Amino acid sequence: MTSHQNLRDTSIENKAPFQGIAFNNSYARLPEQFHARVDPTPVAQPALIRLNHALARELKLNVDALNSTEGIEMLAGNRPAAGAEPIAMAYAGHQFANWVPQLGDGRALLLGEVIDRDGRRRDIQLKGSGPTPFSRGGDGRSSIGPVVREYLASEAMAALGIPATRALAAIATGEDVLRNNPEPGGILVRVADSHVRVGTFEYFARKGDPASVRTLADYVISRHYPELSDHDQCYLEFFGQVIERQAFLVSEWMRVGFIHGVMNTDNTSVVGETIDFGPFGYIDEFHPATVYSSIDRRGRYAFNQQPGIAHWNLARLGECLLPLLDDNADAALEQANEALKTFEGRFEKHFHAVLRAKLGLAETRGGDIELAEDLLSLMTDQRADMTLTFRRLGEIDAESSAADGPVRELFDDPAGFDAWVARWRERLGAETRCEAARRQAMRKTNPAFVLRNHLAQQAVDAAIERLDFGPMHQLAKVLARPYDDQPGNADYAQPPRPEERVTKTFCGT
Ligand code: AMP
Ligand code: MG
Repeated sequence: MTSHQNLRDTSIENKAPFQGIAFNNSYARLPEQFHARVDPTPVAQPALIRLNHALARELKLNVDALNSTEGIEMLAGNRPAAGAEPIAMAYAGHQFANWVPQLGDGRALLLGEVIDRDGRRRDIQLKGSGPTPFSRGGDGRSSIGPVVREYLASEAMAALGIPATRALAAIATGEDVLRNNPEPGGILVRVADSHVRVGTFEYFARKGDPASVRTLADYVISRHYPELSDHDQCYLEFFGQVIERQAFLVSEWMRVGFIHGVMNTDNTSVVGETIDFGPFGYIDEFHPATVYSSIDRRGRYAFNQQPGIAHWNLARLGECLLPLLDDNADAALEQANEALKTFEGRFEKHFHAVLRAKLGLAETRGGDIELAEDLLSLMTDQRADMTLTFRRLGEIDAESSAADGPVRELFDDPAGFDAWVARWRERLGAETRCEAARRQAMRKTNPAFVLRNHLAQQAVDAAIERLDFGPMHQLAKVLARPYDDQPGNADYAQPPRPEERVTKTFCGT
């Protein structure tokens, strides 16, 4: 693919606006310090890689219109969308604990918002749509690799039932972007409940602009937490809600072995969606300290560090909210700290529920968590595959060990598993739920299919090397039903062969 042989008109001024989206924008109404108005930079030859029909319908968008030449040009930023008010959002953030006073959308633009079929306001954003005032020397573009990764990752996450930003479309731009090597460029059309991050609050708070912090908090509360609007301590309640959603989100990530990889405050959503899929990964062989991100040399964002990091990020949000909590600084600090202290208990409550569910325990008994933790230690020592272990555990018999083979064989030393599974069977004996219901419940919490790193890599390699999106499409289809067995797709449930292993994942730039 080369961009030079293309003589198409890429200017957008003389193109009729695309009419297919009923934008209803609110963020663009916020004061000017919240964003920069920028139009997308047209690309040479936009081509649709994948359109998410189900999501389009959810957003009340017309699939045929989006699929048309005009629709694809709009999604690529080559044609204005009627009613869109493209803005780059301003934000800052702590990256690996280092303060960065200005980040912002450097390669993304919020086109605007739509009201979906449930009455929910959703953002539509183009990611990779060209430079903005926040690009800091970057090209504002994205390689097709991260576009494919984020499309697959966000849709897989949603299919797992975990809050996440979504992918409406992936576009090939027909232009190369220069990374280590030239790579084909792409644009991801991202949909989110919100693109407000902890870093958006920090941007204003650390500039010493509490009025804007209040404006932002009022906006977020009225849009995302309207039930708090009338509360006399609405900012404290809001903080509590964000704490709750982050605690839940991280426990859900850990349920499926997900490592976000770059939990900076600018990648921490105030509505609790998984956002900014960069160097993420899913655990194959279980180890709690797993890190895949090539830039995370010290393991700050390792699998088992995620709850502590969420807590750290929430503390940064709390600092921003202090002036809103109380006129008395000590009182404000006290309130924020009290709220923050609830994180641990909230996380533990969710994560313990996750552990019980993964073991198929509907009731709560002393020793349950120890039982789960002992299995995790055994898996760690014996490098058992996380996804397969739990999935297969759900298939064995509560009474007899005759069918233990498939799960037992995942452990190097099956004797350790035998001892553990005897304890598990004994514990199951205390459950009143029937066997069929237990199995069914375990199948719904222990997925058969996750976006294993090698699968994502194979889809990315095919896209970058051959502009072949077949593997991406096939993978997307499988991952849309992660809890179903799909016998014809059994290969996708398997851990990587030694030569397929991906031990490092990279940022989405
Ligand atoms: P991320 O790694 O996606 O969380 O991005 C961190 C910051 O870098 C954000 O402000 C991005 O907008 C910015 N950024 C990343 N890649 C690019 C790029 N190619 N051009 C301009 N800005 C970028
Ligand atoms: Mg980011």
